[in-house]
Parts: sequence; C-alpha cells; structure tokens
Amino acid sequence: MSDKKSLQTTLVHSDYKAPEGFSAFPTGIHHASTVLFKNVAALRARNWQDKTAYTYGLHGTPTSFTLEARLAEIEDGKHCLLAPSGLAAIALTDLALLKSGDDVLIPDNVYNPNREMGNWLAREFGIAARYYDPLIGAGIAALIQPNTKLIWAEAPGSVSMEVPDVPAICKAAHDKGVVVALDNTWSAGIALRAFDMGVDIVMQALTKYQSGGADVLMGALITRDRELHRKLELAHMRLGMGVGMDDVYLVLRGLPTLKMRFDAHDAGARKVAGWLKTRPEVAKVFHPAIADCPGHETWKRDFTGAGGLFSVLFDARYSEEQTDRFIDNLTFFKIGYSWGGAGSLCVPYRMQTMRRNWTESGQLVRFNIGLEDPQDLIADIEQALKAL
Ligand SMILES: *Cc1c(COP(=O)(O)O)cnc(C)c1O
Repeated sequence: MSDKKSLQTTLVHSDYKAPEGFSAFPTGIHHASTVLFKNVAALRARNWQDKTAYTYGLHGTPTSFTLEARLAEIEDGKHCLLAPSGLAAIALTDLALLKSGDDVLIPDNVYNPNREMGNWLAREFGIAARYYDPLIGAGIAALIQPNTKLIWAEAPGSVSMEVPDVPAICKAAHDKGVVVALDNTWSAGIALRAFDMGVDIVMQALTKYQSGGADVLMGALITRDRELHRKLELAHMRLGMGVGMDDVYLVLRGLPTLKMRFDAHDAGARKVAGWLKTRPEVAKVFHPAIADCPGHETWKRDFTGAGGLFSVLFDARYSEEQTDRFIDNLTFFKIGYSWGGAGSLCVPYRMQTMRRNWTESGQLVRFNIGLEDPQDLIADIEQALKAL
C-alpha cells in the first residue's frame, strides 16, 4: 500500500517507526491534541479518568503523566493535577469545591490573587469568603460554620511571612468535616510534609522552585484522597485546563536539581537575612528562621528548611520614596514579581492597602535570594542602603 500512496499522503502517514527500547534520563516530550486508538472498540472502552492509558491531549500524555506522578511522589501524595499557572490551580480548587451558599476561609496574608479570587466569588457567585488571622491556629474552630466547605492556608504567607499552625488548622477543620487546601509553594514540597500535617490538598506554583528557570508558568494540585481528587479532576476537565508539553518538560527538567537549588536558596537567604538583621536601617526581618517573624516557633516545629523568600520592615523613619530609591540602587537584585529562579529579586509592598489589620509602621520590602554568592548580595545591599 505504501508504494501507492501519493507524496501528499506520505507527508501525513509515514511508514517509519522509531526502534523501540530507547532509554535516556529525560522523559520524551509527547505533544498531542488527538490521541489515536487501535480500533473502535478501544475508543469505546476508554474512560478518560483511567490513568493506565491515554484519551485526549487535555487529559494528558506520557510527559504530563510523568510530571504528575513525580510531584505526587515528592509531596508524598497519591494524585496530581496540572494547571496552566499556580493561580489557575487555586481557582480550580475553589470552583471544584464551592457552590453558591457555601463559605470559604482564607488567611488575611494570602497570596493576593487568591484573595482577589475570594472577593470575586463573594461578589458574583453567592459564596461567602471570609479572611482570618493567619496566626489563629486552633482558634479557627470558632469561625467554622455549617456552610464552611474549604479553608485555605499558606505556609508561610508569601509577603508578610507569618507561619500558620497548619496541624492545628487541619485538626479544627477535620473535626467539622471541612477540607484544607495549603499553598505550599514557599517550601517547594521539600521543607514541609504537608500531608503529614493533615492537609487535604497541596497547591504548588511550579512556576517557582520546581521550574527554577523563571521561564515557565504552571501549577499543581496534589491529594491523597481519591474522592477529593475526583472532584478536582471533574472541574479540571470541565474547565479545559490543559498545559503545554514543552512547559511540562521544562518543569521535569528542574526536578533532579530541586532540592540542591532549594538548599542553596535557603542557605543564601539565611545569610542575607541574618546580615540585614544587624543593620540599623532595618526594624524587623520577617524570615521564618528569625525570631522577628510571627510564627517562628511553629516554623521550628514543623519545617525542615526555609525557602529563599523573606521580607524586611525598614525603620519607620524611612519614607516610601527612600526605600524605593534603595531598591532602584540595587545591582544584582532585579525588580520584579515571582521568585524561585536563579536571579535575586526585590519588590516593595504597600501593606496598609493589602491587609485589614496591618499595624506595623515602616516600609516592607520583599527579597528573593537567588543562586548568586550571598557575599556579593550583601555587598550589593550594603552599597544600596547608602541611597536611603
Ligand atoms: C507565584 C505564586 C502563586 C501563583 O503562581 P503563578 O504560576 O504565578 O500563577 C501562588 N501562590 C504563591 C505563594 C505564589 O508565590
């Protein structure tokens, strides 16, 4: 038959088959919208939720199945779903688990777009979104109502860095049958064993440490409970949340070095934060390993390490104009959002507009410590402090 094919058909249907048994470290990049079936019976028999084979590109290829399985392994979970961004994973959780009349509790220090999502649900979808003190711990029991279906936690909050008592929140939630979702991005699934703390859904912005390249956006939801996974999976399917396999490959490429990079970010951040703590220009250093940080004792109890992200509260005598000038004068620290890549970053935050009960005075500046030599970063900060 191949002899009779026209060139045009040959361009679409080749006789070539790559030899089987190819073996290498990386997972291949399998692109597909259409997945092919051997015959009609195979197509009819296929259930898209069954992960032992393939159905359609949106439900995954060997590349995305591999990333899902590896992320579940890292977190010590069982199931994983990929989303086009960390924020998409947050939104997916809300849409999968909440309906009109329900109530969701969100920490007051949460990653701000998560709060924006909560406000949207409250404004347009008839869902009550309430914000709680991130240090509330077991006290959250008093906030749980019969219609409370979901509690978000973030450990630590990625701007003001309070470390919540995750086990206490989970216990109070489970006593009343409420699901807990944790944004575990800061510790990359390495420094906090979330499922052992009682968390039901682990959310990761793979955009940060898992990728490590500052060049890809992706999110993940990891669970141990099959029924919970099913709910998330149905919403994932209905919303059509696909990810590009080239992007999946970039994240897979980051995994072998994830812990070594994380440990290097951790060591660098502790050096720089420790040095900032000695400076007269600085009032407080909100790094979970430093006693200034609310929840420091909880961090010591629950975490085995720290990420590269922390914030500094400048002495109240410095105006926003002065601290902005400080940031502009940094050389190695670039100005921009996100974190987890090799390059150090610095961003100012206006806490009074972000938080309900922010009582600190002084400008808050967030640092992401990259993989540069920490001594060079310290020297950079030292020269920029003169601009104050
Ligand atoms: C970056 C980030 C997100 C969102 O991830 P994107 O991929 O940028 O949408 C969510 N939570 C935290 C704590 C983050 O730092």
